[in-house]
Amino acid sequence: MNYSICYKKETITDMYIDSLKKKLSKSGFVYDEDNPNYVFFLGGDGTFLRAVHKYIDKIETIKFVGLNAGTLGFFLDYSTNDIDDLISDILNNNINAISYPLLRADIISRKEVKTIYAVNEIRVENPFRSLVCDVSIEDHKLETFAGNGLVVASSLGSSAYNKSLGGAIIEHNLPLLEITEIAAIQNNAYRSLASSLIIGGDKKISLKGKFSDIVIGYDHEFLKEDKKINEVRIVLSNKHVNLMRKVDHNYIDVLRKAFIIDKEM
Ligand code: NAP
Repeated sequence: MNYSICYKKETITDMYIDSLKKKLSKSGFVYDEDNPNYVFFLGGDGTFLRAVHKYIDKIETIKFVGLNAGTLGFFLDYSTNDIDDLISDILNNNINAISYPLLRADIISRKEVKTIYAVNEIRVENPFRSLVCDVSIEDHKLETFAGNGLVVASSLGSSAYNKSLGGAIIEHNLPLLEITEIAAIQNNAYRSLASSLIIGGDKKISLKGKFSDIVIGYDHEFLKEDKKINEVRIVLSNKHVNLMRKVDHNYIDVLRKAFIIDKEM
């Protein structure tokens, strides 16, 4: 079993990493940063995003295992204190590998098609002037949107930027797409849904317009597109990320811990 480690340097000490490596080595794991079967990510949800993007080209062959260092932890069921339990759960097959589809965007200009993948969301934004585009789903036009931009989130990402924009949270195991507006203009010239829209994960979303100066954000990454983009097509892809979850993982418990408990105290 080959493994690698991704961690948030501000929250994890070198001493912890050394002791983790010793424990893994004793249990038969071999460190291999280039070809890991397991990627242990230590930190928070942001660390998971960075680990996934680091290994995006080998994503299907890797199992990601999170050790939470005290943040929200949507993707991390174990804490950094639980390393012995985690190793024992892996060795005894007492852990579930859950496979989640990644978002895919094809960014189409006259010269090329660029493809990107994301766990949480794809954001098409113009921070400088209004972004105007036709929004279609499966080639059926929904609206001409005008505003700062649009976010297409997966269920995994529904609790992140999408939530801050007022979008609904979707349970992780539902393969859906959610489109949420960023500062939509609603007047006699432009009118859009003015609400988040959740659609089936088998649908294709197309944003068509004369895009220039747009920023396409995907998780913590972004592309600043100087070229003229004609269309951005977004789907749930065939690529999956395999996340190791505790057998007693419960989504409602995670939501409560992330968003409710402090407010009740
Ligand atoms: P980041 O520092 O990596 O993450 C920003 C915050 O979002 C952190 O508190 C992170 O949790 C949390 N987060 C990440 N994925 C989440 C998920 N699926 N559900 C709930 N919370 C989640 O920031 P970044 O590098 O700019 O971008 C990474 C992600 O952060 C983006 O995909 C975006 O969704 C989110 N973000 C949200 C806003 C907003 O809500 N206004 C703004 C910027 C970015 P941890 O502390 O556990 O890492």
